[in-house]
This record gives sequence, structure tokens and C-alpha cells, in this order.
Amino acid sequence: MTPLLQTARLAPWTTINNVSGNGDVLLLAPHPDDETLGCGGAIAALTEAGRKVQVVVVTDGCHSHPRSRLYPTEQLRQLREAEVQQAVAILTGGHGPAPIMLNYPDAATPEDDDAIAAAADRIVPLVSETTTALWAAWGSDPHHDHISVARMAAAVTARLPHLAYWSYPIWGRFLEQIPTLNPAAMIKFDTQTWQDRKARAVAAHASQMTGLITDDPTGFRMSDILQQHFITTPELFLREGIA
Ligand SMILES: [Zn+2]
Repeated sequence: MTPLLQTARLAPWTTINNVSGNGDVLLLAPHPDDETLGCGGAIAALTEAGRKVQVVVVTDGCHSHPRSRLYPTEQLRQLREAEVQQAVAILTGGHGPAPIMLNYPDAATPEDDDAIAAAADRIVPLVSETTTALWAAWGSDPHHDHISVARMAAAVTARLPHLAYWSYPIWGRFLEQIPTLNPAAMIKFDTQTWQDRKARAVAAHASQMTGLITDDPTGFRMSDILQQHFITTPELFLREGIA
């Protein structure tokens, strides 16, 4: 078992109120599908509790199948936007706000400080008066875009320090080595009640989960084992910005 999943076994269970700060949530997803994989059950639970999760997808997701002729960039962008819209509609039972797409190029999110600050300029106005928490990809996920999004989240919460900032690990779950974690900073959310919805939302991302795009053998496809991992294991949240 990897270090992060080992830590997760010991982490305390949380309630949806604890991880959302009793208000609405702004969720930063690096790619269309991270919102569902990392937080799908929590999105469903929060919506069912009468609250709102505004999903903000940072990249266009167009790097997953770079050689497909059937799905060149614009077609793939439209497909992935439609998939995340459908996934969020499933998770929220049709009650949630539609995801907002920032459309940064996939695999090429900003790196320099000015560009990260400019991204934060775009995200801050999406925080409403009722937003109490920010959920964002984990800065130790081994993926360039996830790291950039974590930096954007840090820049947003530096300006809006009243937001509770939680990160959700995706690829970092499977690393053999991770930075030292304070076990007290991790909580886990039991998604069993929402497993059917989460499974359907994962399936809505068909371009990533199935052989839908047939003409790019180098394209990304999440294995069934990994899909089941995300559908059946607790969602993990790490508290950021506290000593
Ligand atoms: Zn991602």
C-alpha cells in the first residue's frame, strides 16, 4: 500500500459540513474528470444538503488524445466539456451549477508567478458571498497541471483567507514516495451512499474511461482497476494553509 493510502487508513472520517465550512464550495479541477474522481461523492452529498459546488475546470483536456484525427483539438475540447457537464449533472441530480471552463491548454498550464497570479484573477470573482471552502488538486500530485492548479488555489486563498482550503489527491494516491504528511491534516469522506451516482459520473467521462476514441493508441485511458479504486474508496482531503 502506498504511503498516502496508508495515511488514509488512519485518517478520521469527516462530515460534509466539516470539509465545506457550512457554506458553498468552489472546486478547482485541473482536467475534466478530476472533479468526479476526487470529489464526486462529496459534490453529491453537498448538493443533497441544499448547498452548491461550483466546479471550475482549469484546462481544456485536449492533450489526452493528441493524435486522434476523429477528435482534433476543437472536437475533443467540445467532447470533454460535454462530458464534465454531464458528470456534474449526474452528481448533483441536475441541481448543481454547470461547470465553468477556463480552457487553459492541457499539459501546458501557466508556470511563472505572473501567469499564476493572472489565473487567480480569473478565479477570485467566481467565489460568491456564500462560498466557504475551496477544494483543489493536490500540489504533490505528480502532474504539471495539478501542481499549477494547487499554486492557483494558494494564490486565491492568499487573497481570500476566510476560505477553508482543502486539497484532494488524485495521482499522488499511488506514489511510492510523498512529502511528509501531518496525519492530522487528512480527513476522509465516506462515499458509499453516493457510489451509484459516482460510478455513472465516472462513466460520463467516456473519452477517458473507455475506448471511445479509437484512432489514437497513445491516448489516455484509465484502467478499470483505477476507475474502481476511485469509485469505491473514500475521498481524501488534506487541509492546506495551516501550520
Ligand atoms: Zn487531472
